[in-house]
Amino acid sequence: MNLFKFPEDAKKEVKKKILKGLKPQAFKEITTNEIDEAIDEATKGITNIDLAGFISDPSAFCDKCGECCRRCDQILLTPEDVTILGSLFSSALHYYVKVEDGKFFLRHTKPCVFLRKNKCMIYNFRPLVCRQFPLTQDENRNLTLAWYPYCKVPINMSAFKALGFIMKKIIEKTDPALSKAMEEWAESHFTALKEGRQADQIIALTKFFKEHEFYFNKKKGQA
Ligand code: SF4
Ligand code: SF4
Repeated sequence: MNLFKFPEDAKKEVKKKILKGLKPQAFKEITTNEIDEAIDEATKGITNIDLAGFISDPSAFCDKCGECCRRCDQILLTPEDVTILGSLFSSALHYYVKVEDGKFFLRHTKPCVFLRKNKCMIYNFRPLVCRQFPLTQDENRNLTLAWYPYCKVPINMSAFKALGFIMKKIIEKTDPALSKAMEEWAESHFTALKEGRQADQIIALTKFFKEHEFYFNKKKGQA
């Protein structure tokens, strides 16, 4: 089950990005209604394709604002995180790590003790939860995207996705033969990748995106 709920008022931000990203000639082919429909479609939920797109290139959707490092309530550490931090800080580890109810957490968050000049001082060794942010697990342990009002990842992902729908619509109108060929290509490449357990799908789709990344330009605000 997909628990991701995109707030209605955040759609305005997505629209602003799209209007900025589309070149003037696009507006000759697409109506405002069709743009709104593309935004509705893009924000109605998170698919495994979206998650794999993010995992294959998180930096394309992250504004690098550092808000997640300034506002984190608590950072749960895995045993592997603690081992890594232990090798970095040895006897000073207790200054950075605390134990509560048998679980390990970073001490000193809000802002995180490792944030300096908007950069993570342990970037290559940062905890798993930081590497995955803003991805999380739903109650069925399926991967999904969490909504944090300060994080622009869902906005950037949705704008990218909506632009894809808009481009598809424009191609349908202006070049039906190309549109048909694209549909057939997507059918043959994606159908098998959308079967099986979520984890297997995401691994297969992420591999696919990495292998084909030169086809995609995920940089925000570009169509
Ligand atoms: S460990 Fe690094 S990435 Fe994680 S919250 Fe702290 S500064 Fe941010
Ligand atoms: S809050 Fe979101 S957009 Fe900002 S740095 Fe963190 S992940 Fe990136």
